[in-house]
Amino acid sequence: MSENKKVVKNNQVNLLKTTKMFPVSNGTRKFQKKVEDFTCEKCNSFVKGNGYTNHCPKCLWCKHVDINPGDRASECKGMMMPIGLEQKNGEFRIKHKCQKCGFERVNKIQKDDDKEEILKRSVSKN
Ligand SMILES: [Zn+2]
Ligand SMILES: [Zn+2]
Repeated sequence: MSENKKVVKNNQVNLLKTTKMFPVSNGTRKFQKKVEDFTCEKCNSFVKGNGYTNHCPKCLWCKHVDINPGDRASECKGMMMPIGLEQKNGEFRIKHKCQKCGFERVNKIQKDDDKEEILKRSVSKN
């Protein structure tokens, strides 16, 4: 016959609803900003780094140099092919796959990226 129990139950439901809004972060991934210019090994374009650039804006290929974005900790150094596009939180990302080890990663599209080249990737997926 306790009315109190009912109230507690409702509060728990409300709590669940609010916590659902915040995704749990593991806190281990940290983006390290590094500005560097590079020459694309795929199409030989000179790419001016802005600290976020990790792929060539012309052909969209990148190099497997990071384990976590920006850390340059990978020993692979294989070329990563743009294999597709995916949309997350209203933003498009390019999916890259390393031709050497098969490692896959999604990268944010940069404002300088060749839009036609990006479109081609989304079409070629079928
Ligand atoms: Zn290129
Ligand atoms: Zn690789």
